[in-house]
Amino acid sequence: MKCTKCDQDAIIFTPYSGSHLCSTHFINSIERRVRHRIRADGLIMGSTENSPSQWVIGVSGGKDSAVLTYILHNMLDKDPRVQLTALTINEGISGYRDESLEVSKKLTKSLGIRHEIFSYIDEFGIDMDEVVEKNPLNLNACSYCGVFRRNLLDTGANKLNADKLLTGHNLDDESQTALMNFLSGDVSRITKHFDASLAPFSQRITTEFIPRSKPLRDIPEKEIALYAYVMDIPFYAGECPYAVNSFRGEVRKLILGLEDNHPGTRHSIMAGYEEFAAIASSHHQSHKESSRQHCIKCGSLTTQKICQKCVFVAAVKSV
Ligand code: SF4
Repeated sequence: MKCTKCDQDAIIFTPYSGSHLCSTHFINSIERRVRHRIRADGLIMGSTENSPSQWVIGVSGGKDSAVLTYILHNMLDKDPRVQLTALTINEGISGYRDESLEVSKKLTKSLGIRHEIFSYIDEFGIDMDEVVEKNPLNLNACSYCGVFRRNLLDTGANKLNADKLLTGHNLDDESQTALMNFLSGDVSRITKHFDASLAPFSQRITTEFIPRSKPLRDIPEKEIALYAYVMDIPFYAGECPYAVNSFRGEVRKLILGLEDNHPGTRHSIMAGYEEFAAIASSHHQSHKESSRQHCIKCGSLTTQKICQKCVFVAAVKSV
């Protein structure tokens, strides 16, 4: 099959757009969507040569964050308005994190990007291997780990004086989260998702959190994997031994099935979700502002007296 835009052989067909693309037009299409998202979210607004913006990229070593780092580096390396730093969280998972850490280091070194690593053991005095072994609250590993990671990404980005925190979530991740939030019937979760990482920066009301952005959120996971392959970007493909997320797995299967029969489903989910989340967010604003406070133990922003991270750390240390 030939490329829809030229006479080269196509390497991919994207049913949601009806296009066959050769490698050159495929690469252009990925990078164009990242540029468009950066513009649409207003990421560079307010940054100048004299007052450059510090962007911290969460780099796990997986394909998404590797592709994000690579594209942002190529796009912004010569732009004096932005400085890039990679931040990797080391959860302390034997085997898995050691290998992905090496891949992350290799990538950032080859691109000449500053790379900082923050670990659960240094920040909280525990690692995931110990958490899983003790499991004081009888939860799955990801329930602890997700809370710890969110907290440390914020703390780490703060220590690095970040203006923006960027992560590699793709269209599949985001449409799954959107549908899971709807299916849980949890409107406050929807508003949090919107406020933290989907709203354009000009509309963000909260100033105490470091604003997050997901520049790959318009791009399907398979296309990111193909881009990494075509551009020969090193990434770690192993899976965490503690990974359990049966609800997300079910939703993923459901969306991929719908996408097969109705191309464009993921894009429509996100379009409708963002519109709904924006309305829900403005409706909940006064309540959110009044319920936010600083954790009395660590100072993190939370809706409780003691944040969830401190509750989990104390539980593990008490065993
Ligand atoms: Fe942590 Fe779960 Fe991810 Fe493993 S799969 S790194 S336990 S959140």
